[in-house]
Amino acid sequence: MTQLTELRVTMPPTPFTAGFKRIELGAIVLAGVLAVGAMPAVATLGVMNLALAFTMLLLADLVSGVVHWMFDRWGTPETPIVGPNLIRTFREHHTDPLGITRHSFVEANGGPALGSIPILVVGLASPAIVTAGCFWLAGFVFFTNVIHSWAHGQPPRLVRWLQARGVLLSPEHHAAHHTSPHDRAYCITTGWINPLLDSTNAWERLERLVTATVGVVPSRG
Ligand SMILES: [Zn+2]
Ligand SMILES: [Zn+2]
Repeated sequence: MTQLTELRVTMPPTPFTAGFKRIELGAIVLAGVLAVGAMPAVATLGVMNLALAFTMLLLADLVSGVVHWMFDRWGTPETPIVGPNLIRTFREHHTDPLGITRHSFVEANGGPALGSIPILVVGLASPAIVTAGCFWLAGFVFFTNVIHSWAHGQPPRLVRWLQARGVLLSPEHHAAHHTSPHDRAYCITTGWINPLLDSTNAWERLERLVTATVGVVPSRG
């Protein structure tokens, strides 16, 4: 078994605020309703959905990396609104990697659902091919945290089979992010984009650009 499943650090539970939990529950319901609304447009595209889904899986992996990098590197748990509800969760995940496997359904999927809603809204207001693309992208964004938690837990046999073949984020691949200072392998849907971004030092370059532009220094660890 990999180091990810061996690591277990005793920490107090995240102070998941009740108000934010209600927002996240509402976001999950709304994302589901919007996704159902997009299905007729998706059906009109037939086999083209295969190419669309593959493209959107790549994009979702990139989106997962950007969001993860933002909450790992910028702001603090004391930052208003996003600090206690989102940034703290990302930072605690480095000291308590198995905590993600103990999250409730709402806590695990509420954040990704919030990210899926604007994608689905744009899709529903667009032509069918864009609607379908947004449907797949929103779907992969929604399931990213589930896929991430599978890399830390004991997933079903089919998931382990997909992880072993590099289709979904594997514990071995994700272990690179859980090595201090946690500054690489940010993409957590499939991890396919990580080799490109890490080998080109893309995150470090982006951080230098942000610091040079707005004068803010990223957090570490
Ligand atoms: Zn992280
Ligand atoms: Zn992780």
